[in-house]
Amino acid sequence: MTKTISHWVGNKEFSGTGSGTAPVTNPATGAVTGQVALATVEDARVVIDAAAAAFPAWRDTSLAKRTQVLFRFRELLNERKGELAEIITAEHGKVVSDALGEVSRGQEVVEFACGIPHLLKGGFTENASTKVDVYSIRQPLGPVAVISPFNFPAMVPMWFFPIAIACGNTVVLKPSEKDPSASLWIAALWAEAGLPPGVFNVLQGDKTAVDELLTNPTIKSVSFVGSTPIAQYVYTTATTAGKRVQALGGAKNHAVILPDADLDLAADAMVNAGFGSAGERCMAISACVAVGPIADDLVAKITDRARTIKTGDGTKDSDMGPLVTQAHRDKVASYIDAGEADGAKIVVDGRTVTPNGGADGFWLGPTLIDHVTPDMSVYTDEIFGPVLSVVRVDTYDQALELINTNPYGNGTAIFTNDGGAARRFQNEVQVGMVGINVPIPVPMAYYSFGGWKNSLFGDAHAHGTDGVNFYTRQKAITQRWLDPSHGGIELGFPQNQ
Ligand code: NAD
Repeated sequence: MTKTISHWVGNKEFSGTGSGTAPVTNPATGAVTGQVALATVEDARVVIDAAAAAFPAWRDTSLAKRTQVLFRFRELLNERKGELAEIITAEHGKVVSDALGEVSRGQEVVEFACGIPHLLKGGFTENASTKVDVYSIRQPLGPVAVISPFNFPAMVPMWFFPIAIACGNTVVLKPSEKDPSASLWIAALWAEAGLPPGVFNVLQGDKTAVDELLTNPTIKSVSFVGSTPIAQYVYTTATTAGKRVQALGGAKNHAVILPDADLDLAADAMVNAGFGSAGERCMAISACVAVGPIADDLVAKITDRARTIKTGDGTKDSDMGPLVTQAHRDKVASYIDAGEADGAKIVVDGRTVTPNGGADGFWLGPTLIDHVTPDMSVYTDEIFGPVLSVVRVDTYDQALELINTNPYGNGTAIFTNDGGAARRFQNEVQVGMVGINVPIPVPMAYYSFGGWKNSLFGDAHAHGTDGVNFYTRQKAITQRWLDPSHGGIELGFPQNQ
């Protein structure tokens, strides 16, 4: 029995007017478990209009009341996040512990947004001119759109909507059509937390829904996360329509292992960062750059560890789940084929994995490929699967050049015991998020998340103070109150006296 996954508007489900749907599968069994509604333009307008109608009252709701709702949402989420993790696993495939981790990282942004009264404080200057004061205030934008990818159906939306809502905006979330149920669970939780109808809305769908969000003049900003070509399209289309846009794109993250590194620590990190969540993370390490004579030892240590990983159903005793769809699984496997044909050495072959899960699941085990060179597609392309390539170089400078000439710049890491080398790397590398002996350096909620180059289009990174700035507009106010001591006509340009 398959369920229908609909839109959410006015604090209740909305089935929409169209008949288009897309199948949602359980990647561990291959079974179709639901049909997600695909919005028509009319459906999108119903949802956008509801967000617009709710905006005036929400923007004028006191900060005290807004934070009460946020705190209540945080408490409910904390109590019930196990339910959300199970929903994520059933549609995405990642193991439940990893899904719980994703929810906890999202929850940190909710907790950051609970401090919104402090974050929205403006500046005040008394007597900027004689008896004239100047101050600044931050105001919300209006209805804003969040468009998210499949790989973090809870955490990525949570990078944005807690802060957007806390700042007084109303939100339309367009989740990935591959794992859309998490968004409805979150929407119901907001309603339970006391968020007024129309403040948080979900629009299910594909390009039709996205295009309406990008061009409808009621939507004031777009926060997008997904692949680079779509991020570029979203940025161009929505900025042309006059909107504020942050569009986070794809990645090809390198880890540099220097000869003095602790190779056991580095090997553990490569396995965790390469194969966690089956490599379907924008901060996954996909290129391990071994510098100097350590490559053979490092590859041996990664091999030993990779062979212990249990691939299987995320609800069972597994370390790594399936890939999200059969098509994606086959595409990732085709990169392994291409690497082999190009002359790289397949050291651990995920194509032959025996999974602990259904015969029709979308399985691919951890794959380690050695002697990868920068001209091979397994190196140049974002694969987004459990495939770790080892590139061997002789020097630190060659490793740095690989990273700095790569079109992506999301995350990177260096493994070394040399503080000077690490500091030099931090200074020279052209990447937005850098780990030093830390493989997946996802910043805390009070810092901002975002890459450089083709990994982010726009000026604002996600969450932290960038998030507050993105979801507010500043006003500077200059005030003078009537005073018997001044008056008279003065046509000159106002000057400070
Ligand atoms: P995707 O680009 O296929 O889809 C992202 C969103 O865009 C979805 O909501 C989808 O419905 C919509 N979309 C897809 N095609 C569209 C089109 N032609 N026109 C308009 N909208 C369209 O990405 P995905 O496969 O869901 O997610 C994986 C990608 O996301 C990877 O490239 C990964 O690196 C990236 N990602 C980046 C970050 C980051 O922080 N930079 C974080 C997570 C994921």
